[in-house]
Amino acid sequence: MIDFHADYRMTIDGADAPGEGSFEAFNPATEEVIAQVPQAGRAQLDAAVAAARRAFPAWSALPVAERQAAVSRIGDAIEAHAEDFMRLLTREQGKARAGAEWEIGGSVIWCREIAKQDLPVHVAEDSGDRRVETRRVPLGVVGAITPWNFPVLLAIWKIAPALVAGNTVVVKPSPFTPLCTLKLGELLRGVLPPGVVNVISGGNDLGAWLTGHPDVRKISFTGSTATGRKVMESASGNLKRITLELGGNDPAIVLPDVDVEATARELFWASFQNSAQFCVAAKRVYVHDSIYDRFAGALVDYAATVKVGDGAEQGTDLGPIQNRMQFEKLKDLLADANAQGLRFLAGGAVSEGPGFFVPIAIVDNPPEDSRVVREEAFGPVLPLLRYSDLDDVIARANDTDYGLAASVWSRDIDAAQGIARRIEAGTVWINEIHSFSPHVAFGGHKQSGIGIENALDGLAEYTNAQTIVTNRGATPA
Ligand code: NAD
Repeated sequence: MIDFHADYRMTIDGADAPGEGSFEAFNPATEEVIAQVPQAGRAQLDAAVAAARRAFPAWSALPVAERQAAVSRIGDAIEAHAEDFMRLLTREQGKARAGAEWEIGGSVIWCREIAKQDLPVHVAEDSGDRRVETRRVPLGVVGAITPWNFPVLLAIWKIAPALVAGNTVVVKPSPFTPLCTLKLGELLRGVLPPGVVNVISGGNDLGAWLTGHPDVRKISFTGSTATGRKVMESASGNLKRITLELGGNDPAIVLPDVDVEATARELFWASFQNSAQFCVAAKRVYVHDSIYDRFAGALVDYAATVKVGDGAEQGTDLGPIQNRMQFEKLKDLLADANAQGLRFLAGGAVSEGPGFFVPIAIVDNPPEDSRVVREEAFGPVLPLLRYSDLDDVIARANDTDYGLAASVWSRDIDAAQGIARRIEAGTVWINEIHSFSPHVAFGGHKQSGIGIENALDGLAEYTNAQTIVTNRGATPA
């Protein structure tokens, strides 16, 4: 068992590593400093990469069943510390209890399920003397860079498949939410051989050093599209493999035949879960003109029943915005909406702290070219939009550089599927939303990302293909 009250240390080569310097972590609900966080210097990054590199030959040579068992044990270890992780997650990220349970419970499930995956050898030809087979081999050292909205789960989405495939890992959490990941690193010292997973903390510079490091073979990155572009550029130095899970501006299309109250409730959570700091949150909700007013009323009524507050307090449904930078961005977005004279059905103003709280804001049918529609708010500011023509709403849904996910709501399944097929997004849910699985591929189209996480497609991204052609009949020259 590890001590969640002890200091936060990095994990390099299976051992405790202090930082060269330190920085502060805050509780976003109170703005109080909750920890001093080690700040890695360049030398410590190099040490972490070197440790991962040293650990790679032995780790990759293990039978896959042993690596799978180790990944499953990571799930056991997290489960044994679930209460500590959930409390710390709420303190550093701000999310309410139900959200923390979802994230930590999900991390356990992901470890156990990814541990069941393996990539079979593909035999393209096996005839007479000739056999042509393609097998998947690990890459080497993987750099995993995570954002601040789901710091534990998104780290596990990278660590688990990277390890099963035979790689070793250097994890760099967001400087806004490093604490749970540092504790995860500490926990893994007792589960994995030294160097197999290293956890280092620091600012954005550290991320840039990792993406440019010549001994790192792949970067798996989750974060904003703007940073994703920088990662891609920096990773080009040694042609690193990259998986980029980036931003989204997900449309939801509500047809006139739905149960209005039930769908409004579903879409409330689809939009505002995790205080809307969710890459796949429904960020533009298009409602058919004939039910728009009833839908808007139901959404606003439901919003009034939801409690925004300190995630650590019982009865809180939605916590604060995770950090001041994002809080300021949202205030600016709201100021712009007010300056444009947009009408709010709920919220629209922000009272000053303590705590980065933004009341649920719902904007009444803003113009398609307004900032609240065009931009990924990544906070609880939702544009509700009218439509009357299906071709028009599909064109509006697709009129974005993003293509992460979308949802369609209707009793007419054929119609909904027809719409889904015309949407430019990596996932389209029909009459449900945000159902993720370790066995279902997830990834963005357009500028929402490159590559896949989860499923065997996601596992394959931690490998190179190696084709072996054997000819038993040919005489060596
Ligand atoms: P961000 O891009 O600011 O930061 C993400 C991570 O990148 C952090 O660890 C940060 O320190 C690091 N980083 C910053 N600059 C870097 C650089 N130059 N090189 C390498 N690393 C660098 O994103 P964020 O604000 O933490 O997260 C919010 C964004 O993440 C939103 O756009 C959201 O939609 C997206 N997101 C996407 C998914 C998905 O699966 N598609 C999931 C969650 C969040």
